[in-house]
Amino acid sequence: MQPNHATQADTQADTQADAQADAQADAAFVAAWLTDATAVTVLTGAGISTESGIPDFRGPQGLWTRDPAAQRLSSLPDYVAEPQLRRRAWQSRRQHPAWSAEPNAGHQALVTLERSGRLRGLLTQNIDGLHQRAGSAPTTVIELHGTIWEVECLGCGDRQPMTTALARVDDGEDDPACLRCGGILKSATVSFGQPLDPDVIRAAERAARECDLFLAVGTSLTVFPAAALPRVAVGNGARLVIVNAEPTSYDGIANAVLREPIGGVLPRLVAGLR
Ligand code: NAD
Repeated sequence: MQPNHATQADTQADTQADAQADAQADAAFVAAWLTDATAVTVLTGAGISTESGIPDFRGPQGLWTRDPAAQRLSSLPDYVAEPQLRRRAWQSRRQHPAWSAEPNAGHQALVTLERSGRLRGLLTQNIDGLHQRAGSAPTTVIELHGTIWEVECLGCGDRQPMTTALARVDDGEDDPACLRCGGILKSATVSFGQPLDPDVIRAAERAARECDLFLAVGTSLTVFPAAALPRVAVGNGARLVIVNAEPTSYDGIANAVLREPIGGVLPRLVAGLR
């Protein structure tokens, strides 16, 4: 008879092996669903860019997990009311990892999906521009929360490249104002307390309605209205697949949940697509 501790170790190893086998089987099912799909809509979140060196907000190493007070930088009322917070926001923009980040294997896999002719829409909550940098068609990408590559005046709506505003910060303006009207400038991203562009959210809902497979990748699915999109897809008969390291409140209605690193699993899912 084996000693007890060996039996426990064997059982543990068996359990791990079973979990790995299950994960591989699930990924194989999802790959087959992708092959059969005619219209795939993908919703990405900050998790797809962590392997490019851009931290997410709510993951274990997330910016807000480590520093809950940093959330105020994303609050529009606070940004408008507090010049000191704006100065902090400009310093944080200067150091943003997006300026030097490169797309990773997860972004590239979605380009492969698009080139296979199956991609109905690529909806992203990210503001880093990495999907377009990877080669996703700008017409396919819907940036739900805007982009960090531009600034927008909260007064007159004028838009300018972020690089121009950051050059002014480098030259000593700690809170550069709009050169057209003197209003408050902010990155052209959607902050808390700021509505999404209605045309953008309508286009995203249409893409969610018109797909037969909805793939949610690297998102905690907690920020609305983006987080409502998987339910729109499921309500119209689509399969739902979630790829995320941590549980989400939509796992229960998903046809498959893959909890593997995105840069590893997405390339495997699309490898067989022609
Ligand atoms: P989130 O931070 O709420 O959730 C990210 C999820 O991704 C987490 O559940 C985490 O466990 C998972 N994750 C992280 N890395 C992963 C990996 N390599 N493999 C698998 N899973 C991984 O992000 P959200 O749902 O997108 O919402 C946050 C908001 O923050 C969005 O509105 C977005 O605009 C903004 N944001 C954007 C960026 C960016 O543009 N890269 C970065 C941070 C935050």
